[in-house]
Amino acid sequence: MSNFTFDTDADGIALITWDMPGRSMNVIDVDTIVELSALVERVATEAAIKGAVITSAKETFCAGADLTLLDTLARTFAGLVKSQGEEAAAAKLFEESRKLSQLYRRLETCGKPWVAAINGTALGGGFELTLACHHRVAAENPKTRLGLPEIKIGLFPGAGGTQRIARLMPPADSLQLLLKGDQLKLDRAKGMKLIDAIVPAADLVKAAKDWIKAGGKAKAPWDIDGFKWPGGPVYSKAGMMTFPAANAIYRRETYDNYPAARAILQVVYEGLQLPMDQALRVESRWFAHILRSPEAAAMIRTLFVSMQELNKGARRPAEVAPAKLKKIGVIGAGFMGAGIAQVSAQAGIEVVLVDRDQDSADKGKAALHKQISDRIAKGRATTAERDALLAHITPTADYGALASCDLVIEAVFEDRKVKSEVIAKVQAVIGGNVVFASNTSTLPISSLAAEFKDPARFIGIHFFSPVDRMMLVEIILGKNTGDKALSLALDYVRAIRKTPIVVNDSRGFYTSRVVGTYIREGHLMLAEGVPAPMIENLGRMAGMPVGPLSLNDEVAVDLAWKILKATEADLGAAAIDPRQKTLLEEMVEKRGRYGRKNGKGFYDYPANAPKKLWPGLADLQPTKLDPDRIDIAEIKQRLLAIQALETARCFEEKVLTDVREADVGSILGFGFAPYSGGTLSWIDTMGAKRFVELCRKLEAKFGTRFAPCKLLVEMAERNETFYRRFAPDRRREAA
Ligand code: NAD
Repeated sequence: MSNFTFDTDADGIALITWDMPGRSMNVIDVDTIVELSALVERVATEAAIKGAVITSAKETFCAGADLTLLDTLARTFAGLVKSQGEEAAAAKLFEESRKLSQLYRRLETCGKPWVAAINGTALGGGFELTLACHHRVAAENPKTRLGLPEIKIGLFPGAGGTQRIARLMPPADSLQLLLKGDQLKLDRAKGMKLIDAIVPAADLVKAAKDWIKAGGKAKAPWDIDGFKWPGGPVYSKAGMMTFPAANAIYRRETYDNYPAARAILQVVYEGLQLPMDQALRVESRWFAHILRSPEAAAMIRTLFVSMQELNKGARRPAEVAPAKLKKIGVIGAGFMGAGIAQVSAQAGIEVVLVDRDQDSADKGKAALHKQISDRIAKGRATTAERDALLAHITPTADYGALASCDLVIEAVFEDRKVKSEVIAKVQAVIGGNVVFASNTSTLPISSLAAEFKDPARFIGIHFFSPVDRMMLVEIILGKNTGDKALSLALDYVRAIRKTPIVVNDSRGFYTSRVVGTYIREGHLMLAEGVPAPMIENLGRMAGMPVGPLSLNDEVAVDLAWKILKATEADLGAAAIDPRQKTLLEEMVEKRGRYGRKNGKGFYDYPANAPKKLWPGLADLQPTKLDPDRIDIAEIKQRLLAIQALETARCFEEKVLTDVREADVGSILGFGFAPYSGGTLSWIDTMGAKRFVELCRKLEAKFGTRFAPCKLLVEMAERNETFYRRFAPDRRREAA
């Protein structure tokens, strides 16, 4: 056995320790399944063995299934469809994908008691293994998280998780856990009866063995006659309070865009009406079905595989040695600067926080103090954590303090003159190896770099707001940015545990440019006479986190107006849409509606009530369409297609050079319909040919902004996909 050790003690209790060689965490792969099956048989059949305790020698218990296993399954399936037909392939996929479920059921019913000694985090298939054990003991460990996060990548727990969870907790709670994919701390998990005991780490194995010695039963509660469901049967008053409401909540939260979420409702509802073995069969059928869904394939690829590759430095120039950043400078202690200081300090990096004067610099640090204190009040942080973090941040007005930094990031006002002054001041004090980064959201990096003495060391590091919560960082290469600057920027982003994408300089870079088209489409629909509530609801129904008007309020309506005017001044009147100009001028110049920031935008923001669409919007519509005659599907298509098309243009213009970055950036940066796997996956799933047809149809009806670009037309003719034509070069990365 290469993944487990097996020791039996004098009492006949086997201790199985999971410790995969060459990996920092245990994961479930083909070998694990084979070896664990053999171990279960050994425990079941050797008379001298009274029971088994399973634990891990790693810091965590198990991170879940190795997703390459699922990837292999999906590929095998595609091959089988070709060679043996759809039905035979589906039957094979069903048999293969239920192996883990069958193994866990065999463990649960093998006749000997099994105890999970949970030393650290157990997720997905790893947590499902503990649920199949007859007793669960966890070691005290504030870092431990338990949960079933499969839903986040378009799947659901397929190794008994849905059925065991739904038999341990009332259905409303279990649905919530499964549909949210929350990762629970130990005390919460114990409160929910998902684990039986929490003990000091040193006593973990002893406590697990003691349970067996004390006569712990080798039967799960649901296998004992007279088992009662925690929330009562499905067809009971309580059940009827849950399931119809759950359907409604599911629709409200997902707009039926997530087949895996729908499957969870289905398997819990059906499974709870069946004995365990049949219930597991139902779960497996749905699991195999979901595994074949385009949504799962796209979400696994983007939100797991690609994201992990980018996090590990897929785009990092291999020739440059990795740097460990000790100290950075942040200029501008405002909203963004303070956030950048915070995430850097959290990663243990010393931060010199510079502003115009000491007071302004102190204010930035004080804002962080307040923000973390608010979290302490809610029990989400500790005083010690706050103090440790703030100790890393030194506010000052003295540029001289930047001399010993590895990287300097400016986040001062979005004003070219102010940025130029700051660049001049910084270059007067820093050495020849220091990299300078700008957090600008609109100014071209190459033009700012031209003011820096060595443009090779100048780069864009574009954070999203709020900095501490947004996981994406967009790195922008100027015309002359060098590999060393890029490497350092990527090392920095890795240190602060965010996901980087690397793009070339362009107006709005990638994310702002694309999300700008979504907002503009909302504006144009309003101008056409589509009722504002329809625009907003259809944006969400298409899969966006918020409607375009709401999004514009968040980023500020006056900012959209400023950008439009700058685009017109730089590129000419043909580069903007006059209807959008009229609308924004009316909103900003005539009505003073700047967005959430002044409490007045497309929405009103009353002090103690939820925001409401501003009724005056109707007066800004020159015509009004009859809502009953509006093509709902077409509105949804427009809102997504315009973004996907702009992404394809970014690819054609080489603003983007990697399909993974396009997709990951679109979901993490602006929430593009996550079920699609991102903007380019959306096109690939539909097929270039159909996408081009859709663009042409929309172009004929709504104008040239929907004209498909050359690249897409060519791909449609050749029947190509982005992921095939621009397959990421994984060989180079492996080297
Ligand atoms: P802000 O107004 O909150 O903060 C700017 C800070 O810069 C202020 O504290 C100000 O005192 C300081 N400052 C101004 N001139 C200075 C100087 N000469 N020397 C030192 N400090 C100076 O602005 P913000 O929202 O934090 O934006 C900062 C930058 O980040 C801008 O370039 C903006 O485009 C970019 N950005 C903002 C967002 C966002 O959502 N707010 C998102 C991404 C990028």
